[in-house]
Amino acid sequence: MSQLHELSLTELRGLLTAKKTSPTEIIDAIASRVDAVDPSIRAYVYFDPASAKKQAAKVDLSLPLGGIPVAIKDVINVKGDQCCCASKILDGYTAPYDATSIRALRSAGAIPLGRTNMDEFAMGSSTENSAFQITRNPWDTTRIPGGSSGGSAAVVAAREAVAALGSDTGGSIRQPAALCGIVGLKPTYGRVSRYGLVAFASSLDQIGPMTRTVEDAALIFKAIAGHDEADSTSLNTPVEDPLPLLRTGINGLRVGLPKEYFIKGIEPGVEKAVRDAIKQLESLGAEIHEISLPHTEFAVATYYIIATAEASANLARFDGVRYGHRTNQADSLIEMYGRTREEGFGPEVKRRIILGTYVLSSGYYDAYYLRAQKVRTLIRRDFIKAFEEVDVIACPTTPGTAFKLGEKTNDPLQMYLADIFTIAANLAGICGLSLPCGFSEDSGSRLPVGLQLLGAPLDEAMLLRTAYAYEQATGWHKETPAL
Ligand code: GLN
Repeated sequence: MSQLHELSLTELRGLLTAKKTSPTEIIDAIASRVDAVDPSIRAYVYFDPASAKKQAAKVDLSLPLGGIPVAIKDVINVKGDQCCCASKILDGYTAPYDATSIRALRSAGAIPLGRTNMDEFAMGSSTENSAFQITRNPWDTTRIPGGSSGGSAAVVAAREAVAALGSDTGGSIRQPAALCGIVGLKPTYGRVSRYGLVAFASSLDQIGPMTRTVEDAALIFKAIAGHDEADSTSLNTPVEDPLPLLRTGINGLRVGLPKEYFIKGIEPGVEKAVRDAIKQLESLGAEIHEISLPHTEFAVATYYIIATAEASANLARFDGVRYGHRTNQADSLIEMYGRTREEGFGPEVKRRIILGTYVLSSGYYDAYYLRAQKVRTLIRRDFIKAFEEVDVIACPTTPGTAFKLGEKTNDPLQMYLADIFTIAANLAGICGLSLPCGFSEDSGSRLPVGLQLLGAPLDEAMLLRTAYAYEQATGWHKETPAL
């Protein structure tokens, strides 16, 4: 029989409702697993099973996530826990309140357990920008787990967590999910409240589930989605329950293949796995259509103007006055601000603040920021037009598999290109999901490949249903890294 830490959320819920296990036993099993493997993965920045067990004692097991521990990316506020965004500038900061998504998880019976490593302030694609530690890919510990939610992806893949929350501004849920061989869902912009998520780029950020199975992602999505008055960009439209639709199959579904996403430079093993996945969708009854998203080539450039502009404004609040680190070497207020920021932020965060300040500055605003906003509209229109012809879009999540630690740290542009297929969905505000679709051995290591499905605004149920049909027909999610 499988051990508790190996089971999916859905399987554990089955055991809990049949009274064959308890939340405390599950937390103990996870804690032993963390003791055994986290010293080589280093995905948690904070882990406190004792406090989770106290909460577990009070949990109502009849709730949909009753008794299920969920790991939380270090960018989402959980009352009483550290919330450092893997940055020195927030060192010592404890969250005074729960994010809305955390309150929603708790109301569904889930128990937040542990804080996962990330790129500092969610800026990066490899988790190497963490100020705290390097996290390793469970499939090959000489490689990166992806980013910025690399800790969340790694704990789920390494069976150190049942499920996790991540955040996705340009791919940070889907890209590490793909590189670690798990499921990651970025909901439609505004679908999950951002209240209590430390802001990186407010017009792009979304919280979403990272899980081992599609059904688990659907369960967590259902718990955290919905309107929130505390977030002015939260959508006030009813959330369609994805669960009853999961098993309805995909016969007659129209799947679009964007020609701009099958380009030179993709790792051959990635392209093969994705093409095989598309054949599988076809054999399940889907109709395949070639489509075009003509403004795709501008997505990365547009993103690095808009995201940095918003980040430069959002990160202005970290000045040593209210949160975390404050320099002890300043003679004036201005010097205190400057030194605190100099000491507290890492190089990538500084690069983004400088770039963002530049594109917003007078004289450059029209040439960069305003123009990027116009291109953003064109990118969104490409998708809206495509979704008049197809129900979902299928493509690779990433152009390659997990790269080696250190391989791209000296070349920010190469690092930015790791998100070439995920960024457009954030700019367009649509939903996207990555799920395992096989392995590529091109790098000499057997590494997971992600299939990305993109859906029309608010159509998460369609993504989950398509993903579920594929997952059940193939079973890639059952593969476990040997640790
Ligand atoms: N890798 C992208 C970046 O560095 C996306 C990050 C994210 O989605 N948070 O900005």
